[in-house]
Amino acid sequence: MKISTITNLAYAVTLLLTALSGIAFIASDRMAAAERRSVEVHLALTDLGEQLEIDAELRTDEARLYVMRGDPAHLAVFERVNEEEHRLEDLARRAGDLGASGEELELLKRITGTIDRLEGVETGAVEAYRAGNAETAREVLFGDEHYSQHVRLVGDVERFRAMVDRRTGLELQKAQIWADWLGLIARVLLASTAVVFLAVLYFVLRRRVSVPLTQMTGIVKRLATQDFAVEVPHDGRSDEIGELTAAIRIFRENGLERERLDAERRRDLKMKDLILQMMHRMQACQRVPEIAEVVGRFLPQIFPELGGALFVRNEANTLVTRVGAWKLPEDMVASFDPEECWGLRRGQPHHSTSKRDDVDCQHLAQASDSVLCIPLSAHGDTLGLLSFADVSGNPASIREYKAYLGMIGENVALAVANLQLRERLTRLAVRDPLTGLLNRRSLDEALATWAGDDAEGEPEPELTCFVIDIDHFKRFNDEFGHDAGDTVLQTVAGILSEIVGERGVCYRFGGEEFAVLLPQVSLQEGHRIAELIRTRTATLTLSHAGRILGTVTVSIGIADNREGRTVRTVRGRADAALFEAKASGRNRTVSDGEMPRPHGEA
Ligand code: GH3
Ligand code: MG
Ligand code: MG
Repeated sequence: MKISTITNLAYAVTLLLTALSGIAFIASDRMAAAERRSVEVHLALTDLGEQLEIDAELRTDEARLYVMRGDPAHLAVFERVNEEEHRLEDLARRAGDLGASGEELELLKRITGTIDRLEGVETGAVEAYRAGNAETAREVLFGDEHYSQHVRLVGDVERFRAMVDRRTGLELQKAQIWADWLGLIARVLLASTAVVFLAVLYFVLRRRVSVPLTQMTGIVKRLATQDFAVEVPHDGRSDEIGELTAAIRIFRENGLERERLDAERRRDLKMKDLILQMMHRMQACQRVPEIAEVVGRFLPQIFPELGGALFVRNEANTLVTRVGAWKLPEDMVASFDPEECWGLRRGQPHHSTSKRDDVDCQHLAQASDSVLCIPLSAHGDTLGLLSFADVSGNPASIREYKAYLGMIGENVALAVANLQLRERLTRLAVRDPLTGLLNRRSLDEALATWAGDDAEGEPEPELTCFVIDIDHFKRFNDEFGHDAGDTVLQTVAGILSEIVGERGVCYRFGGEEFAVLLPQVSLQEGHRIAELIRTRTATLTLSHAGRILGTVTVSIGIADNREGRTVRTVRGRADAALFEAKASGRNRTVSDGEMPRPHGEA
């Protein structure tokens, strides 16, 4: 309730109480007036009674003096008093007008009757005296009859006075009680008015103004120091204080909103900063697993609610393999068919939820109820997949970050594409495209690296080197064409790779010339392997474009770095051994040891 309403109400109550107390005072005053009137009536009536008695006695006295003395002066007074008595009797008959009660009127009537009878007796005695019967007149005036009437008159007047006294007394008493009560009521009402006024004043000033204002001051002080945790009471008041509270509440809500937006902006900035850092690191990555490591370190910081994994597609596009994961179960799928992912199938981000309103990817089904698969595409090629899974139990988080996640997906895709491009270029630089074997440059680098420790005087790790040359290779080109020659080269390269396997590295360093480096393999074991290569090649019958190419043979020269021989000379010694093999009829293996030592070597 508004303070103005409360004060208005209190004002109305005060007015009402004041009016009531005024009425009570007026009523009390009226009671006092009634009292006064009762006293006046009492006086008039007692006066009348007394006057009637006095005049009757005076008249009797004058009649008696006249019949005793015969003085006409007494007769004159007698007659005058008689006149007066008549006037009083008239007054007594109209005593109702003065306020006499019925009983009192009755008694007055009896009194005037007695006075009339006394007048008759006395007038008769005066008449008798005048007629000369003085004796009779005196007897009448002093006789029993006169005496008894006089006694009756005195008694009646006495009773009349007592009656008026009693009635007036009662009336006065009643009026007095009423006046007392009304006075009391008036005072009580007046006191109530004062109490109401003081109570309203107290309520308004203390309960409704002072206390809330003190509270508000404290709240405003805290809000001024940006302490928005302070609670603004919701007292539902519709008065000015209520409006003030509502305004402060709005101020606090605005402050909270501003704080929230600030925090959001800070979080956004931090997120962008982390994303930028991650992108810089990715650009410096040399290999795809390094990208996976960078992504696996930064993404959990940027999106703490999300786990995820980076998958890379194989060249044949038959499998996507996990190269990194964070915040996901240990037993999560390591690789899967690209067809299992709707994101990869559609070439667009795909959000799988457990809501059953869309098809779900199966490959991350156990990770979370909310999984976002972002295919990594660059230069029109799909390279792999970046998957995010909500691990916070809030499926909305993925939707909230979708734009950022898409942008990160694009950047990861570009980084992976750049690395793959670089890897392809490197491969082209170090490998022979026809056979897939490492090229001459790689062989030179490998031998140089191997020989690198020589300067420090430490013993070289053991190495056996083959140099392989296809015999009369030119013939295949000449007879069956260059493509057939290529087939022969690929076949021989395949035999080399298969037989050498993990034991060494194969190179094609010239047209139809190959080399094999076998670390930690003895010359004898090398010889055995070389023979295996040679015999396997010789037993093979090749065909190309439906034509039999005939037998292919190879000559092999072998050298190693044992017994004082070095890596630096191993290639030359193997070449020399090959030359020896060619010279001695081809299709054979010659070891460095079977040849005369070059000058200067042990
Ligand atoms: P030899 O037994 O003495 O080694 O005789 P050869 O014919 O094998 O040796 P030669 O050096 O005379 O011939 C090598 C030939 O290899 C010459 C060249 O046309 C051919 N050649 C070099 N590179 C390639 C290639 O990449 N593909 C094909 N088809 N032929 C090649
Ligand atoms: Mg040759
Ligand atoms: Mg040859």
